[in-house]
Amino acid sequence: MTEWDKEKLVSLVRKQGLSLSQNKLHHFSQWLGSLDPEQKISQASVIKAIKKFKSPSNLALRLLEDKLVVPRFTRFSQDIQEIFELTQQIEGGAVANYIPQLQRMSTDAFAVSICTIDGQQIHLGDSDQYFCVQSSCKPINYGLVLEEHGEELVHQHVGHEPSGSMFNELSLNDKCIPHNPMINSGAIMCCSLMKPHLSMADRFDYVMDTWKALCGEHKVGFNNPVYLSERQSSDRNFAIAYFMREKGAFPPGVNLKNVLEFYFQCCSIEVTAPLMSIVAATLANSGTCPLTDRAIFGPGTIKDTLSLMYSCGMYNFSGEFAFKVGLPAKSGVSGVIMIVVPGIMGICLWSPPLDTTGNSYKGLHFIRSLVDSYNLHTYDTIVSTEQTKKDIRSKK
Ligand code: GLN
Repeated sequence: MTEWDKEKLVSLVRKQGLSLSQNKLHHFSQWLGSLDPEQKISQASVIKAIKKFKSPSNLALRLLEDKLVVPRFTRFSQDIQEIFELTQQIEGGAVANYIPQLQRMSTDAFAVSICTIDGQQIHLGDSDQYFCVQSSCKPINYGLVLEEHGEELVHQHVGHEPSGSMFNELSLNDKCIPHNPMINSGAIMCCSLMKPHLSMADRFDYVMDTWKALCGEHKVGFNNPVYLSERQSSDRNFAIAYFMREKGAFPPGVNLKNVLEFYFQCCSIEVTAPLMSIVAATLANSGTCPLTDRAIFGPGTIKDTLSLMYSCGMYNFSGEFAFKVGLPAKSGVSGVIMIVVPGIMGICLWSPPLDTTGNSYKGLHFIRSLVDSYNLHTYDTIVSTEQTKKDIRSKK
């Protein structure tokens, strides 16, 4: 029978990637504070104490009963560290250059952050640097309009199919609506559907509040120079919007200039890799933030959003990404890739140099290596991977 003392319990929290300052460990942390450092305490007594907390902290119980979603977190962290170091050495790709603010990003910057649905976290590299979310705002805006209007209405204005063309292509599907919400035309369409009766300021507040909630109530940033630059080099996005208006794709009463400015503002929201990994973990946790237990999106919205991220989230590499990596993801030209492992964890990879498909060069390398060694591909469960891959849920 395991015997605990204060020090051992504190180190268990750390080993499992948790922190005593986490909201959901508040009562546990207070209780630990009341323990005498010399005191020995049995497993059964610790569990009895946890069960008595006024708002019983499930997380502490899951921790003590060895029920966390990634049980062997130390081993997993070591593997992540190893892949991170190997990936850091590879060179390739080029930073986006359509606006000076992106062109000036450091080519060496690299961050990897992971957050599980139990709030276990790993942060490596440049985790305190902010970057703009760019196209990774697209699944969030799509989720918001799904919540607001329901799937049927939203999909009268935007399709479900990969476009097979560039993300900013001037093209629509055979119904004269955007192919999907993960490319520019579809994202502009989602912006036009979102809270159309609010003022521009309140609509942006609404999006910022959503991001804050998705990040576990941490404040997110806004990069004004990126926004101004996007607005200044917006001919293509205006062309797409005018084309959609000509074809009658928008809902009635849309003000194109406002919609486009709103879209550029959304692209200019800034986060760090740790924050983005919490956003991804919220998607992995059916729309409920694992750090606060706040439900931001309903499970149906998440199902739809992840489905389209899976088929359309990685630009013109989406098919191959689904084939080789097998996970819903969304990338952005700032070098971010947000990856969701449903029911397990969220991953954020950030490194500005992009490959020819517009996806982070290091990011792709990292996730391929991870999926090579862990059974994370959606269809890994179909084949027997016991001999070739580690099982992330294994306690052994
Ligand atoms: N702001 C960019 C654009 O609209 C977003 C692009 C992206 O990340 N692919 O062109």
